[in-house]
Amino acid sequence: MAAVPEPSLILSFEEARHLVEGHASRLRPRSKELLELLDSAGRILAEPVAADRNFPPFRRATRDGYAVRAADLAQLPAKLRVVGEIRAGARFEHSEIEVESGEAAAIMTGAPVPTGADAIVMVEWTSRAGDQVQVTKGIATGENIVPIGSEARRGQQMLSPGMRLDHAAIAVAASVGRVHLLVYAKPRVAVLSTGDEVVDIDVPPGPNQIRNSNTYSLAAQIQAAGGDPVLLPIAPDQPERLRELIAEGLEADMLLLAGGVSMGKYDLVEQVLADFQAEFFFTGAQIQPGKPIVFGRVPWASSPKVAITDAEPQWKYFFGLPGNPISTMVTFQLFAQPILEALAGRAPQKLVFLHAKLKSEIKTKTGLKRFLPAILSGEFEQAEVELAGWHGSGDIATAARANGYVVISPEKSTIAAGEWVPVLLR
Ligand code: AMP
Ligand code: MG
Repeated sequence: MAAVPEPSLILSFEEARHLVEGHASRLRPRSKELLELLDSAGRILAEPVAADRNFPPFRRATRDGYAVRAADLAQLPAKLRVVGEIRAGARFEHSEIEVESGEAAAIMTGAPVPTGADAIVMVEWTSRAGDQVQVTKGIATGENIVPIGSEARRGQQMLSPGMRLDHAAIAVAASVGRVHLLVYAKPRVAVLSTGDEVVDIDVPPGPNQIRNSNTYSLAAQIQAAGGDPVLLPIAPDQPERLRELIAEGLEADMLLLAGGVSMGKYDLVEQVLADFQAEFFFTGAQIQPGKPIVFGRVPWASSPKVAITDAEPQWKYFFGLPGNPISTMVTFQLFAQPILEALAGRAPQKLVFLHAKLKSEIKTKTGLKRFLPAILSGEFEQAEVELAGWHGSGDIATAARANGYVVISPEKSTIAAGEWVPVLLR
C-alpha cells in the first residue's frame, strides 16, 4: 500500500478554508445548457446578460402628482394651468403634451415625464380646481424623475456569468426580454458512505447496525448547493471493495466519502486513496465537530469531465468527511461546498458569519474552533441564539431542530449570556 499522509497535515480552520478556496478558484464547470427562464431560477448563469435598451427607456415619474417646472414653484403657493394627464403605458407623443412655464401635467407613477417638465410634485402637496392646480411646496430640479439610462445604459452588462439566478436576477433577465438563459451544467457529485455497521434505509437494521443517513443528508446538501448527487452503494471497511467503489466515484466530477477517516484501525479511506496516487492537502482541521476532515485530489489526466484552467495534469477532487452525521453536515458546508460551487460555475463565495445575542452562557474547552448546533430566534432587529443542546456529533435529532451553528473561536472557554456571537446559518 502507498504511504498514508503525515499527521502534520492538520490545519487551522481558516487555513483549511483558504486552501479550499484557492483550489476552487482554479476550477471551471464542464458544460453549459440553455433553459427556459423560470427553469433557470437557482442555477448559475453562464453568459453575460446586457441591457437591450436604456433603463429606464424614458424619463420615468416615480410619484403620482404633477409634472412641473421647478422654477415655477419659487413663490408659494403657486397656481399652474393643467395642460393634460399622462398615465403609465399611455401612448404618449412628446409633441402632444409640453409643459411650459406656468403649466403642469397630471402624471401617474411609471409614466413618461413630458417635455419641458423637470420635476414631479407629489399629489399630497397639491389641490385641484378645474384646470387649475395649486401647489404648496417647492421642489428641486430632477426630483421624483429617474433619468433615461440611469439604471443601465443600452448594451451595459446587467448580470455576469457565475451569478446564482435568484428572483432579482430573474427580474433583470425578464426585463431585457430573455425567454431563455444559458446556465452551467450541474456537476455530478458521487457520495460514498463507508462502515461495516451502516445499512441502507430499506434494510431492517440488526441490533448493532445503524441506517445510512449520511448519504442522504449529503445528497440533499449537494442538491441545495447546485450539484447532482450520484449515490454509490455503502462501502464495507474492506480495502478491495472500497477501492472498487472509489474508482466508480471518481468517474463523477467530484467524490465525497463519509466515514472511515478518523484513524481507527479499520479507517481505510486514506490508505485506499493513497493507492490512487492521491495528493492530500489536509487530513484534519482544528474544528469541532469535524476534525478528521480530509481534502485532496487524484490525478485524472484522461477524464473529459472536469475542465481545469491549468493545463495537464487534470485532477478529481475528493473529500473524506468524518462519518459522525453532524460532522458530515458541517464539514460539507465549510469545505466541500466551495469546490462543488466552483465546478457548478459559481463565482467564489466568502463564508460570512452573522451575529446574534446569546441567550444563555456557553462553557466549552479551548483549542478547537467550534460550530455548535444552535437555534436562531428572536424577531426583526433582535436576533437571539442558543445552543440546541446536543449530545455529540452523532445527534441528528438535535441537528434537525437547529437552524445554524454558534461559532466559537479556539481560545474562548466561556461566553456570557447577552454577548454577541457569530452564527453560521445552515
Ligand atoms: P467513522 O467516521 O467511520 O468513524 O464513523 C463515525 C460515527 O458515525 C460512527 O458512530 C458511525 O457509526 C457513524 N456513521 C458512519 N457512517 C454513517 C452513515 N453513513 N450514516 C449514519 N451514521 C454513520
Ligand atoms: Mg467507520
